[in-house]
Amino acid sequence: MYVDSEMYIIHCDLDAFFASVEQRDNPALRGKPVIVGGTPQSRGVVSTCSYEARRYGVKSAMPASQALKLCPQGVFLPVDMKRYQEASRQVFKILSDYTPLMEPLSIDEAFLDVKGCTSLFGPSEAIARTIKERVLTEVGLTISTGISYNKFLAKLASELGKPDGFKVITRQDARSVLDPLPVSCLWGVGKKTRQVFEHMGINTIGEVRQVPLELLEKRLGSSARAILDMACGIDLRPLDTARTARSMGREITFEQDVLEPEQLEKALLQFSEYLGQKLRTAALKARSVTIKVRYHDFKTVTRSRTMTPSIFSDLDIYDTAVSLLRETHPGKVRLIGLQVELDYPRELVQGSIFETGETEENLLIDKTIDLLRERFGNDAITRASLMKK
Ligand SMILES: [Mg+2]
Repeated sequence: MYVDSEMYIIHCDLDAFFASVEQRDNPALRGKPVIVGGTPQSRGVVSTCSYEARRYGVKSAMPASQALKLCPQGVFLPVDMKRYQEASRQVFKILSDYTPLMEPLSIDEAFLDVKGCTSLFGPSEAIARTIKERVLTEVGLTISTGISYNKFLAKLASELGKPDGFKVITRQDARSVLDPLPVSCLWGVGKKTRQVFEHMGINTIGEVRQVPLELLEKRLGSSARAILDMACGIDLRPLDTARTARSMGREITFEQDVLEPEQLEKALLQFSEYLGQKLRTAALKARSVTIKVRYHDFKTVTRSRTMTPSIFSDLDIYDTAVSLLRETHPGKVRLIGLQVELDYPRELVQGSIFETGETEENLLIDKTIDLLRERFGNDAITRASLMKK
């Protein structure tokens, strides 16, 4: 079995991002050719343009003066990065609800690996549908999603489906989807490589696959292997988790400074349940637990503990956090935070219950709570100590 045999990679890409934010915020711009980037008077280039402008042949990176010639009625707007970053932040937050295994590619684009999240959120298709729906209703933008068994095909799927795309490329479909496409659709094939192919009389991906590797190596050198693999729908690159969050955490600043340890422990329990659920959702574990305590005079201390073996149950996180809290000196607390460092590479939780030192019972309780929350919402179930007295 191939390591990439299952459909767990989702590529998410906002449609005509900057232009869409402008159209969202100013209804008068909807349906109009919006061109974000340099003004025609300046020597700037087009950053993003709406689909209405693309119909006139306007493209990203094109000089604004040329865009004006192609589309004289175009609405030219300056880049307003602050608003785009805010929208991007909202979208990435939605994406991170479904997995912490995310590789952001740019301000409007990311890969998700949802393996290990499907028992909680349903199959990849359901996750992609939910993401599309939430981005539309919560942020007011359309996002295209592509699902496949590797990064190359997932990204290709989202491109082919645009705008508002939802496309799946299965192992069975891969070759028939790839064959008629131009070689430039292969990841990493730029102008130079395309010209090499042109000289060889090769225009489509299907034709690339007919070329013997040795010949391709003579013409393209060391990149030949990867290009030929991609033409066959093979891409074994994992998500670049170095770009993914290394840790996750929660903190709260109290409205009034807190003296009672019980109240601090209560906050830690809430955080532990939240983080534990996130970990299990993603089939990840925590390799360390850190608490942060900020006192009324803003003096801040942190205490950390490395966990061997790594942990993922609410109660193990909570117990560790509380014992770390006891190492701090008592005082009036303004803020308390809890953070776990994620354990990569992950292994599936189900396979290793008995090796981790988790008690089976704890895990069962956690899983039941996760399921109930999934079905009835986060407030449906709370540990007894969290109940209001
Ligand atoms: Mg985009």
